[in-house]
Amino acid sequence: MIRSVKTPYGLLFFDRQSGIHILLDEYAGRWGWEKPLFVQFQITNRCNMHCAFCYASSGSDSGDGVWNYDSALALCRSLDSFGVLGVAFGGGEPFLFPRFVELCKEVWKTTNLDLGATSNGVLIRDSDLAILKDCLSQLRVSVWNPVDANKLKKLIGNGVNVAVNLLLQRGGLKLVETTLRRCYSLGARDFLILRCQAAGRSTRNMAPTLDELRELPRLLSTFKDIMAGFDVGTGLLLKSEGVERDFMQPWNEDGAGTRVVAVTYDGLVKPTSFCSFGIPLRNTDDFANVYNQLLTAHAKSLPAP
Ligand code: SF4
Repeated sequence: MIRSVKTPYGLLFFDRQSGIHILLDEYAGRWGWEKPLFVQFQITNRCNMHCAFCYASSGSDSGDGVWNYDSALALCRSLDSFGVLGVAFGGGEPFLFPRFVELCKEVWKTTNLDLGATSNGVLIRDSDLAILKDCLSQLRVSVWNPVDANKLKKLIGNGVNVAVNLLLQRGGLKLVETTLRRCYSLGARDFLILRCQAAGRSTRNMAPTLDELRELPRLLSTFKDIMAGFDVGTGLLLKSEGVERDFMQPWNEDGAGTRVVAVTYDGLVKPTSFCSFGIPLRNTDDFANVYNQLLTAHAKSLPAP
């Protein structure tokens, strides 16, 4: 089923089966945001790892949060009814969430939502991949270094569309490059490069410098057949400096909490997963109401014309 959504940039059509987006920009400026396109659903804050730079302070001792199989499914169905295009599950480690693979299967079967998940990849079994190949549009795997990339061997080539997330920390350009090359040699072609930001356990001095961020297009240009994107902040920085490449997003982000919003493990709706501000969901049917509150808060934060 092809869905259409009114956006400030035009009328967007989306087909989850093929992943094709078509934006009719002759309608640009006609509407404001009425719903987010995608929801990042931090379904748990527990993780089997305890990375020093984790923006969510996740770990084995982190709380499970408010979600269980039934309430997570109910929220997804509510988002589907509202007309959201898709949900990206994350954490923590989503594969620690009880019945996570079953949840993906059920959401795919009973809604028209596009589904993605971000994972460290360690806990994913062959039997999970056999199910997920029919109900997950993309599995994003975080890879920290060239040795860590070896986990891709068991994930790529099993029918699931696997993409790689890389993290750029200060002084870490060479590490990103060598990790990217190792992932590439294992068959990865789709990359998202995220900058380390001061949140959770990561600190301000772990954030890359502007000069390091400016080096990213040069690094990526040495690969001719990869897809690559950045976090929104890095994308905007590069765009503001005149970098226009096929890896740039078409959106001129008009503020956090409009096109994409985050739902957290403890039941808050936030403009981004890094934001400290959030509005609690009263129940799983409350999302549209909370989204409108976020839009109002965003409008108030804009400078007066
Ligand atoms: S960065 Fe990812 S893998 Fe590491 S502790 Fe946080 S959620 Fe887990």
